[in-house]
Amino acid sequence: MGTAPQGFLPGVLLPLDGPIAPREDLPQESSIIDLDPEVKDKYGLYVARITHKYHENDYKAANYIGARAREIMEAAGATKTWGGELEELHGQSAHHMGTCRMGNDPGKSVLDKWCRAHDVPNLFVPDASCFVTSAGANPALTIQAIAFRTADYIIRSAKRLDL
Ligand SMILES: Cc1cc2nc3c(=O)[nH]c(=O)nc-3n(C[C@H](O)[C@H](O)[C@H](O)COP(=O)(O)OP(=O)(O)OC[C@H]3O[C@@H](n4cnc5c(N)ncnc54)[C@H](O)[C@@H]3O)c2cc1C
Repeated sequence: MGTAPQGFLPGVLLPLDGPIAPREDLPQESSIIDLDPEVKDKYGLYVARITHKYHENDYKAANYIGARAREIMEAAGATKTWGGELEELHGQSAHHMGTCRMGNDPGKSVLDKWCRAHDVPNLFVPDASCFVTSAGANPALTIQAIAFRTADYIIRSAKRLDL
């Protein structure tokens, strides 16, 4: 449940453990990935720049989940608990998704409902970038389901010579 408080002596209160819970990170137009206008990589190419800010709902959800996690730990016999607030979890880990979100409107989305690029008909992107929200669970199984669905669509489209 976050980083141990300063001065905390691991040897005193071991064993340590704690729950970690995925939480929906609401999509916002201000959260984007673009090319950094100044920083370049070793090949001289501009690097990706991540701009992200939490939504008010993200704080509420994190505080709620954190409180439930403390209850679980205390019910299990924990004598000292900490963490759970969103600030402490920022940057600990993240599932990246939504960078090529799907949608019907080419003006507001990159892919159509089959993960096909609006602008490039023979380009399919069946990965986490098509997600329109992060949802509240781990993404890998949904990514796999979407990939199978997209592959099936490609096969059917190819048979109709419609790629
Ligand atoms: C430590 C860790 C633990 C995780 N645990 C879980 C879990 O328990 N459950 C769960 O559901 N999810 C988990 N995830 C998240 C899950 O692994 C990712 O959400 C998922 O792999 C994303 O799939 P993707 O296809 O969108 O991207 P990726 O799997 O990252 O695939 C992107 C691919 O594109 C390639 N690529 C990148 N740039 C280029 C380029 N320029 N040219 C060609 N290829 C390129 C990369 O090499 C890579 O193979 C975990 C992630 C991490 C890091």
